[in-house]
Amino acid sequence: MRHFSCDLCGKDLTAPADARYVLRMEVAPAAAGGVNCLCEADLDQDHLDAMADMLDDLEANPADAPPAVPPTQHLEFDLCPGCRQKFVADPLGRDRAKKLRFSKN
Ligand SMILES: [Zn+2]
Repeated sequence: MRHFSCDLCGKDLTAPADARYVLRMEVAPAAAGGVNCLCEADLDQDHLDAMADMLDDLEANPADAPPAVPPTQHLEFDLCPGCRQKFVADPLGRDRAKKLRFSKN
């Protein structure tokens, strides 16, 4: 039998009577979704030449390689009802961050 526990508070959620919520998140670079527009300047540019130049540069000098775009990440968490409610109320933890700042005496 698979064992489940809340990823936030650690509460055991294995019993079928325990309500368990699955939180799925995806973090993807915005450009991958085609958000960038295709401008006329893009069409004028010779991409094959530019690409060939870039590849030549990379082969000649691998240390200069641009930082890789982070791949899309899929995250999954199990939450108990209480933690689900807290998460939905403040998904990015902004309130928590504010409170931490103010709690410094
Ligand atoms: Zn919890």
